[in-house]
Amino acid sequence: MPAANDKINAFPLFLKVADRLVVIVGEGEEALAKARLIGQSSARIRIVAANPEPSLASWAAETGAAVVFETYRPQHIEGAVLVFAATGDEAADKRIVADAKRVGICVNAVDRPELCDFYTPAIVNRAPVVVAVGTEGAGPVLAQSIRARIDRMLAPSLGRLADLAATYRSAVERLLPKGAERRAYWGEFFSGAPARAMEIGSFEEAVAAADELLARRGEARGHVALVGAGPGAEDLLTLRAHRLLMEADVIVHDALVPEAVIDMGRRDAERIGVGKRKGCHSKSQDEINQLLVDLAQDGKRVVRLKCGDPLVFGRAGEEMAALRAADVSYEVVPGVTAAFAAAADFELPLTLRGVSSSMVFTTGHDLKGGPLPDWAKLAISGATVAVYMGRSIAADVAKRLIDAGLAPDTAVAVVENASLGDRRMFHGTLADLPSLERRSDLTGPVMTIIGDAVAGANFRRSVPLAYVDIDRLALSVPPPRTPPLKGDGDSATSATPSPLRGGVRGGGKPAAELNVPGELP
Ligand code: SAH
Repeated sequence: MPAANDKINAFPLFLKVADRLVVIVGEGEEALAKARLIGQSSARIRIVAANPEPSLASWAAETGAAVVFETYRPQHIEGAVLVFAATGDEAADKRIVADAKRVGICVNAVDRPELCDFYTPAIVNRAPVVVAVGTEGAGPVLAQSIRARIDRMLAPSLGRLADLAATYRSAVERLLPKGAERRAYWGEFFSGAPARAMEIGSFEEAVAAADELLARRGEARGHVALVGAGPGAEDLLTLRAHRLLMEADVIVHDALVPEAVIDMGRRDAERIGVGKRKGCHSKSQDEINQLLVDLAQDGKRVVRLKCGDPLVFGRAGEEMAALRAADVSYEVVPGVTAAFAAAADFELPLTLRGVSSSMVFTTGHDLKGGPLPDWAKLAISGATVAVYMGRSIAADVAKRLIDAGLAPDTAVAVVENASLGDRRMFHGTLADLPSLERRSDLTGPVMTIIGDAVAGANFRRSVPLAYVDIDRLALSVPPPRTPPLKGDGDSATSATPSPLRGGVRGGGKPAAELNVPGELP
């Protein structure tokens, strides 16, 4: 038993309201809020309001709730199972409360806890599953924030899954003995294959999975989720990724996924790092593929956590092929890819009207010798190019693109540790890009974005690429460089200042200050 002061003063119950009358007296926002809350149920709603505000009147018209356009009289609450006094007027609310109490109807007076028989909870609705959060009126905002947290944890399809479960109850009771087997069945039903099928909206697959589970007598079948962890910030994880992490038996993660993101998973989940970090022992891709298959065949729920999006330079193709070959069920959960995170840090429009209307995701490694890849031609025709894993080959990338005809003063944005607190941002031109390779201080992952659209970014928090480099090497002011402007033979005199050119030449001055709207290249 809890200590006396831990006792609950307002005990939670679930009241049957289907087709029963709930009366709400009031004309404005408070009445509408209660009407919306009760409107989530199948109760019959009667609103008593001589002059309802337009929002209340239109809500009633949309939902079919009855409105009595009269001043409140005690007869209005006759036969009700619940009454809300929401007039906003203390004397009127008191009268309604007194009338309800006299005939034994439970009553709530909005914002007057001392008059209430009951409080309304904040609810998470996955009918028939409902989670109600109450604070005995102490903290409605607290209740809402708890509600929001629970809401994120529960799949939107949970209600349909619970409905399906009800149709299996008698079969399960008939076929599986009470105890461990039956518990295993329901455990797997609500978090295994039937739940996953319902989450992707396939009722038929959910039924098939529930039948199969019955045939296996509740024995769990493993599953692998290839999950995008996003660029590093925990709050850029998707809700689905978070839910899967909370349900995982094993988390198999890359080196680039920060500890803080892995920590969002179930505390007792096994964690296996298979990271590819320079100089460290790591598993080969074949070993990783086999590990995923083995874990799933062992009945484990596996989250294969990859940085960014799993389908972008994540070798997900090989893992999915191995899982398919071994007939292991799997799913893919997208994540925020590094290019998008870097663009957001830079406020950089990846597509920009009249400037760039296509995007290239590349590693740049395919620029090392051999024929020019197709994407280089796209870059020349104005695409925005995001270069993954491009730091150590920056000079190659720059040289080949310039040789191919891309102007040396094409804008470049570089972000190390995009989305994270310790991110660093640099701007410059294609001609500056080789300096990236020489920078030993860049130890985090680096994203390079090249293209004219980069000039639309905000350079307030970035420093010039070339400038920093030169500063580090020699404490002298670098000689002014005058890269030729695109399509303009006489750059020194007739330059249209792009933010980027301004930034590089302006001695490290925040380039955005020089940004002249409408004068982007
Ligand atoms: N699947 C990942 C990419 C993996 S390849 C995604 O979609 O983002 C690894 C490369 O991604 C790194 O070399 C770097 O270029 C880039 N990268 C990943 N996280 C990054 C971050 N937080 N900031 C900058 N670049 C990042």
